Amino acid sequence: MLIRTLQAAVLIWIAWTMSVPAPAQELNLYTTREPGLIKPLLDAFTRSGGIMVNSIFVKDGLAERVAAEGSRSPADVLMTVDFGNLIDLVEKGLTQQVRSPVLERAVPSTLRGPGGEWFALSLRARVVYAAKDVSLSTFSYEALADPRWKGRLCMRSGQHPYNTALIAAYLAHHGEAKTEAWLRGLKANLARPATGGDRDVARDIMGGICDVGIGNSYYVGLMRSGRGGPEQSKWGTAIDVILPAFEGGGTHVNISGASVAKHSPHREAAVMFLEYLVSDEAQKIYAEANFEYPVAAEAVVHPIIAALGSLKVDPVPLTEIARHRTLASRLVDKVGFDR
Ligand code: FE
Repeated sequence: MLIRTLQAAVLIWIAWTMSVPAPAQELNLYTTREPGLIKPLLDAFTRSGGIMVNSIFVKDGLAERVAAEGSRSPADVLMTVDFGNLIDLVEKGLTQQVRSPVLERAVPSTLRGPGGEWFALSLRARVVYAAKDVSLSTFSYEALADPRWKGRLCMRSGQHPYNTALIAAYLAHHGEAKTEAWLRGLKANLARPATGGDRDVARDIMGGICDVGIGNSYYVGLMRSGRGGPEQSKWGTAIDVILPAFEGGGTHVNISGASVAKHSPHREAAVMFLEYLVSDEAQKIYAEANFEYPVAAEAVVHPIIAALGSLKVDPVPLTEIARHRTLASRLVDKVGFDR
């Protein structure tokens, strides 16, 4: 009798454990972001809700890897930088749609996939670095092609994703003919070949090679904070930084962001993780870790970045800008920008 009762109890227990899915205690994050940069976020998330994050750092070929794993992929969340990379994941069928009032409230509709396929988590603005004696407080992207800057402009390769995204935004604002003319103007203004990185623009302004240039906002934080070393801290303080805007628009931003993977085995935990990443606590960590702008409007901006002025994000949706990326890259070749 006792054995039968025990047997029944065991059967009921087995049936119960099978019917009630245990809340996921872990999730798998595939990320192209430097592990050191995101570790504080993962630790804080685990502290907040007890869910462990196994992060897999995928330096290159994130889409290829997830595609190759197919429906057996353990990936729950795919995290990367550049909206082009996120939209590539969507176009390859590697993401799923997420409806979340928390995410929809925190992330402006222009900075996420229209069906919740991806969400921006932090922003980097494409800003103007200028020599101190330029002393301008406003600047338009259009004005960078003005002959006034002939032989005075420094920037990195036109084919770098930071620049093709900016050129794609220019296309969204002005169309092909005007964008081509603008690129020819920029090319004519170059003080040196379009090469190197954004921080080299600041270095070359300090060195007197150029007077204006284009670079990402977070590099200003990396340089001025001294985190990039004493040399870079000199470059950072040698320049003025101006938040430029499109005529009739705002400042071009790129993003870091994330998607829930198509075959996510822990979907609920994945959505909770994304919701955590737009919380005040996480947004503050973003701002401190890499001098990025938080995506949530109320979140705290790092003082070095706040000092650059208030960011007015260009209103053109990133999905619209992304449609012009291929043409942007073709125009860079057409005008021989990098030659
Ligand atoms: Fe960068």
